[in-house]
Amino acid sequence: MQTNFEYIYAAGDCATSKDIVTGKSSWHPLAQVSNKMGRVAGSNAAGSKMVFPGSIGTTLVKIFDYEVGFAGITLEEAVKEGFNADKTVIKAWSRAAYYEGGSEVFIEIVYEKLSGRLLGCQIVGKDNCAWRLNSVAVAIQAKLSVEELFYTDFGYTPPFGPVWDPIVIAASQSMK
Ligand SMILES: Cc1cc2nc3c(=O)[nH]c(=O)nc-3n(C[C@H](O)[C@H](O)[C@H](O)COP(=O)(O)OP(=O)(O)OC[C@H]3O[C@@H](n4cnc5c(N)ncnc54)[C@H](O)[C@@H]3O)c2cc1C
Repeated sequence: MQTNFEYIYAAGDCATSKDIVTGKSSWHPLAQVSNKMGRVAGSNAAGSKMVFPGSIGTTLVKIFDYEVGFAGITLEEAVKEGFNADKTVIKAWSRAAYYEGGSEVFIEIVYEKLSGRLLGCQIVGKDNCAWRLNSVAVAIQAKLSVEELFYTDFGYTPPFGPVWDPIVIAASQSMK
């Protein structure tokens, strides 16, 4: 977070950082990004040696009853960045079919074709979508593949998802 002036640090909405997916400079004006940048900048200004690793722009919003989220990049951005990428779009049910309160979940997963590396994810639905997006965000940041996402040992119980969670279905479809 150190600027080109040795004793001046930049953090938060006024600063750019590295996009972990593309490796390029990016601007993600978001609260967690800003706060974590602030911790790194403040610690370094006080003599520590911390490094802000970058971000993937994970964003969650609630639009009326809908939980909407995205992390990483879209297919259009991936192609523009030179990735040989593709996407999978699935519609699934948010809870075990017999458990009340479930609803449709739509997930789009963007991945690199040959390696299967996750590049982005978008989710929309009324139920249990925020935790799903944040789970895939961890996988994107860790540069996992769709196969590694498929085999991730997610917890299951009917109120929170079906045995084949929408994330697992999306990963499974992407493996084909
Ligand atoms: C309506 C709204 C909703 C948002 N919701 C979300 C959300 O749900 N999730 C999310 O991740 N992000 C959200 N954000 C973005 C998030 O708030 C920002 O990314 C984050 O607050 C940026 O932190 P910051 O410290 O860089 O800047 P700020 O939080 O803007 O802090 C900058 C501070 O500097 C002060 N300041 C400015 N000029 C001077 C000066 N000359 N001298 C002294 N002080 C000065 C300002 O008064 C302010 O207190 C939202 C933003 C808005 C506007």
